[in-house]
Amino acid sequence: MTESIYAFPAKVPVGISQCLLGDLVRYDGSHKHSKVCTEVLAQRFEFVPVCPEMGIGMGAPREAIHLVGNLPDEAVRIVGNRTAGLDVTEQMEQYGRDKAAELGDLCGYIFMGRSPSCGLGNIKVYHENGNPIGRSTRGVFAREFTQRHPLMPVEEEGRLRDAQLCDNFVTRVYAWQRWRALEASGLTLAKLQDFHARHKYLLMAHRPAAYQHLGRLVALAHQRPVEDAAQDYVHDFMTTLKTVCSNKSHTNVLQHLAGYLKKALDTKSRQELAQIIDDFRQGRVPLIAPLTLLRHHLRQHPNAYVQRQVYLEPHPPELLLRNFY
Ligand code: SF4
Repeated sequence: MTESIYAFPAKVPVGISQCLLGDLVRYDGSHKHSKVCTEVLAQRFEFVPVCPEMGIGMGAPREAIHLVGNLPDEAVRIVGNRTAGLDVTEQMEQYGRDKAAELGDLCGYIFMGRSPSCGLGNIKVYHENGNPIGRSTRGVFAREFTQRHPLMPVEEEGRLRDAQLCDNFVTRVYAWQRWRALEASGLTLAKLQDFHARHKYLLMAHRPAAYQHLGRLVALAHQRPVEDAAQDYVHDFMTTLKTVCSNKSHTNVLQHLAGYLKKALDTKSRQELAQIIDDFRQGRVPLIAPLTLLRHHLRQHPNAYVQRQVYLEPHPPELLLRNFY
């Protein structure tokens, strides 16, 4: 009944800073075309482009802007680099709130880094006189958007060029998409239990203790309205997935999964599987190598519980995200 929730849709909607698609919307009339976005992720992401500075009517080319002010973040202002009195703080905050309300159905968002509007962090803040204040924050649009959608997966484009971080982000995008599909299908305790069971090894790969913690939450969910339990569950679930899997935790999960095949495989096949998992542990082969062999054996010796594990295929395989680390 819930199988459709676990099938990958043809495309998932993902927000993106528009300059990353190659559009000439930057302050100097240029772009920041991202190959990883347009050549890899665009195969399965339906990008929803947003340029907040164009969105508030600044045009391109335009005067560059930067952040001034002091703590707290809400007191930071977004002002022109040259023109005294050019202050677009209120427009940008309102635009961020409007777009966040409009784009609540996105499965994720890719932001351009180092931008006082779109950056997710490390954006320098200056004194009125132009000297750095010695602290940094989020861009104003990114701040408004992420405050409204604290669980939606977000990432800066520069980090997606790291294979492991890209795998982590796309894993979170599809996890969020599955969760939203689960909610849309009508949440029940049985569906929550099934969701948790299917994500057992994915959670273990991210943070082993989190699987136990979330398991206790699900076990006690019958004591209160399922919607309340689900809210606590998804908060901790999405937070757990932000932890990037280590080589050690992947190895641990692979060895657990291989354990299900222990009786079915002959000695030679068992040794070959153990060897390729160890090759991965030592960095000699990428993650896809032991996974491919595991999946091969599972086709020969089906195990319904293991084959339902999201860990085996957390995102569409043609993205090749596990082939490079
Ligand atoms: S970083 Fe954001 S505001 Fe700047 S050009 Fe790109 S999309 Fe527009």
